[in-house]
Formats: sequence, structure tokens, C-alpha cells
Amino acid sequence: MIPQKIVTIDGPAGAGKSTLARDLAKYLGWIYLDTGALYRALALTALSRGVDCGDREASESLAARLNLTVSPEPQGTVIAVDGENITERLRAPEVSRMASVISAWPGVRETLLGIQRSLGERGEVVTEGRDMGTVVFPQAGLKLFLQASPEARARRRHLELAAKGEGVTPEEVLRDIVARDQADSSRAVSPLAAAPDAVLIDSTNLDIEAVFKVIIRAFHNRFVAPSKNGTLSA
Ligand code: C5P
Repeated sequence: MIPQKIVTIDGPAGAGKSTLARDLAKYLGWIYLDTGALYRALALTALSRGVDCGDREASESLAARLNLTVSPEPQGTVIAVDGENITERLRAPEVSRMASVISAWPGVRETLLGIQRSLGERGEVVTEGRDMGTVVFPQAGLKLFLQASPEARARRRHLELAAKGEGVTPEEVLRDIVARDQADSSRAVSPLAAAPDAVLIDSTNLDIEAVFKVIIRAFHNRFVAPSKNGTLSA
């Protein structure tokens, strides 16, 4: 069987998913899809409209009505709500916290699932999130699960936020990351989890170049290396 041309990268916050997914998509000439941006867009819209992300009914109803435009671009996933580009506002710490809260509601996930699948169905996509390999694209040709210690992830995320001028301390970033991991891993619907057939990569002591090499090797083994009967291996 020829593996479906979708690579999924799942894992907790700050594990390096975005950078690696973007780099891999560029290397392959495939589309890069950041699905966290969809949950963030919903959370930001809730915050700006005074909708309580902890209120299931209000959150699910907002998701169902959301006029979302998602444009996967090489540098990142561009998001507009009601025609307004909100991409630059999606990474704020408050949006991260609320994305994790609102993403736990089943109706929210159901609505965003349809959007994600329709963006990924044409193939040649590298997609990152929490449930890409388990729920959204279980048929993906290659599934990766990136892990790293909370301290290593907080260090990286703090550098990123500081570069953007966000005034947060390393301790606050670590606290947020641990809380988000806990919420994302323990929710009832589509929790953060590695698919049974995912390649597990721990990047605690590896830099991004080293992880990229591991990923390229996994991709090659899955999609390129010829099998004994001369067809693409699966
Ligand atoms: O990946 P990112 O940090 O941008 O995701 C923000 C939040 O969106 C996560 O903490 C998680 O709660 C939610 N999310 C999700 N499923 C995905 C992607 C993101 O629940 N596939």
C-alpha cells in the first residue's frame, strides 16, 4: 500500500512542532498546517466578544457560527475571522491559556475537525497539533510524536516570547506549559496522545537540526525506501 502523503506531528507545547513542521513542509514542497492556530483563533474571538471559554454551550455555539478563513502559507497558518487577519495576535499567553480551555469541548472539536480534514484531504500536507495522528488524520503515512522535558520546553518558549516582546518570566512560562499539558492530556475528547504507530522523538537534549535529521530519516524509511517488490514501502 502506498502511504498517504500526510505527515502528522503531535506533542505538548514547546516541543518544537511548529518549527519542524514548517521546515519539513518547506523541504518537501508540501503544505504546512498549524491546527493550534484554529483553536487559538476561536479563543481570541471568545475573549474579544466576552464569551466565557469555560462555558460549553456558549463556546460550541461560537465555534459553529465562526466565520473562519484558514490559509496555510509556508511561514505559518494565516487566520482571518470575519475577513480580519488576526494571525499576529494568536500567540499571546492569554490566548494560549484560553485555547486549551475551549479546545476541551466536544462540539468545538467536532466543528474544527471538519475544517482540518477539508484542508488536509488533498494530501502533501505536514500538519501539527495534539490529535493529528490519533483522530484527525489516522490514515497519515507518517506520524511523529515530539516530546521534551517541561523545563526544556519552557526555556524555548520563553526565548520565543521574549523575542516578541512579551513580558513573561521563565517561571510563568513553565507554569503555563505544565497547566496546559495537564489540561490537554486529561480532557475526555481527543486528548494529547501519541498514536500507537507514531515515531517517538525526545528532543530534550537535541537541537532542532538533530531532530530534523531524525525526521528526514523516518520520512525516507516510510515514503522513499523501495520495498522488496519494487513498490513504495508502507
Ligand atoms: O499548538 P498550540 O500551542 O498553538 O495549541 C494551542 C492549544 O490548542 C493547545 O494547548 C490545545 O489545547 C489546543 N489544540 C488542540 N488540538 C490541536 C491543536 C491545538 O486541542 N490539534
